[in-house]
Amino acid sequence: MTTKYIFVTGGVSSSLGKGIFCASLGRLLKAHGLRVTIQKLDPYINVDPGTMNPYEHGEVYVTDDGAESDLDLGHYERFLDSPTSQANNVTTGRVYSEVINKERAGEYLGKTVQVVPHIIDEIKHWIFRLADEAEYDVVLCEIGGTVGDIESLPYLEAIRQLRYELGPASTLSAHLTLVPYLAAAGELKTKPTQHSVKTLLSHGLQPDILVCRSERHLDDELRRKIALFCNVLPQAVIEAVDADSIYEVPLNLADQGVDKLVLDRLRLLRGLVTPEPDLTGWMRFVRRLHSLSGTVTVALVGKYVAHQDAYKSISESFMLAGVELGVEVNVRYVLSDSILEVGSAHALKDVSGVLVAPGFGKRGVEGKIEAARYARVHDVPFFGVCLGLQCAIIEFARNVCGWQYAHSTEFAPDTPYPVIDFMEEQRRLVAKGGTMRLGGYSCHLEEGSLAHGVYGAADVRERHRHRYEISNTHRTALAAHGLRFSGINVERNLVEIAELPDKRWFLGTQFHPEYRSRVGRPHPLFTSFVHAAQAYSKEVTGAA
Ligand code: GLN
Repeated sequence: MTTKYIFVTGGVSSSLGKGIFCASLGRLLKAHGLRVTIQKLDPYINVDPGTMNPYEHGEVYVTDDGAESDLDLGHYERFLDSPTSQANNVTTGRVYSEVINKERAGEYLGKTVQVVPHIIDEIKHWIFRLADEAEYDVVLCEIGGTVGDIESLPYLEAIRQLRYELGPASTLSAHLTLVPYLAAAGELKTKPTQHSVKTLLSHGLQPDILVCRSERHLDDELRRKIALFCNVLPQAVIEAVDADSIYEVPLNLADQGVDKLVLDRLRLLRGLVTPEPDLTGWMRFVRRLHSLSGTVTVALVGKYVAHQDAYKSISESFMLAGVELGVEVNVRYVLSDSILEVGSAHALKDVSGVLVAPGFGKRGVEGKIEAARYARVHDVPFFGVCLGLQCAIIEFARNVCGWQYAHSTEFAPDTPYPVIDFMEEQRRLVAKGGTMRLGGYSCHLEEGSLAHGVYGAADVRERHRHRYEISNTHRTALAAHGLRFSGINVERNLVEIAELPDKRWFLGTQFHPEYRSRVGRPHPLFTSFVHAAQAYSKEVTGAA
């Protein structure tokens, strides 16, 4: 079977939830037994979002093969439960840099290199690359930005050409629009949608499906109106009313038969595909989500807490773990800077667990170190992720080992106790750039440790995004004071996990477990941490 392509564009407004729509439709198609992947094409000039401030762009998601990518890839992986890769997120910056590199290498044989055809061909090449890498029945391709943006034009032209070349049975165009409710008129308005489709038409693209984001339900008359003016079938006008939870979206789409409509258009309904989607697992998850009992409050200590998407994978991991345990996890976002101002006892009052978040740069670090101290001294369940682990090590070195000025060389290059440092091999790499440890690395777990018990395995693989490591020079002395290095990357002899065995639940990871939580399959470290927080909360309230 040849690969089919679904192109998803957005109009009228940004933030319509194209990513969630793609993840939901992908999940539905997977439920029909198809092999599905989702690609995000981003029209910005950065080669990847790795250098962008989380305030600009939300979390940077990391794939197993080490791509620093858009947070939508996190939704794709959580919904589809299948890994993404470098080729799942392509930006204009990457497309141009590939073309310019080829030009410098003389690959265009003396031709003038232009947007048409060279940039367009490069975009098409990246779209095809996913199907070359693995066997996919369907590739969903989400075009970032909004139709009408100058920077989206090459992508629209690329998909126009692909529709022309591959034909209507192999491609489908879905367009997300906004149908606003005007209170003064007391009705939903279709004009923005009509204009958006006209803009799309001016680029040679007729949508097959319109997904209408709206605060209110669309009645039949409205659907017929949109269908008539936008040249689509009435049943292809899909309503996407604001949902309580993003996890309901696949079910809302299935209720409207979107999966069957898509499969029919792509000539997939007959033959290979299971006619009814198997959504039992998903429905079980949504049912559990709606029947949580009790709440457990955990603090998420970080410096980007004002931006709701900056710690997306961590907050989703908490929610997924909560559903697994049947409890609602209330995440209290604590600004790391504020901890020193108001005091940890106040900032972390009444929380049943403390997670110190990943991060870069000096701001807020002392607040994170103080949060780790508070959790250690008061034996509150503690989870350090990447910089969070590093802060816990610095705190332990200062206050347990008595190494007063211990620090990470990221923040204090001249510290007498560089407990977090560049490794020698990385020092050599500095000149060449590319100093981050990115993507999946193996980790061997020590038998009898908390980590080993939680994973129930001796060897695991987890994703990284950091420059600094726990210093091997100080490892023996830290261990002599009671730290247990329970996870090690054996190939490079690097610490992956550290824990304090005499505490209730005190563990930090150099890697990012949050990138591997899935719907119905939360990361075991998150589940175990939330469970420990629940137990702690019961203990504290029981004692009170
Ligand atoms: N800044 C730290 C490092 O580069 C931690 C990075 C992170 O938390 N992702 O090692």
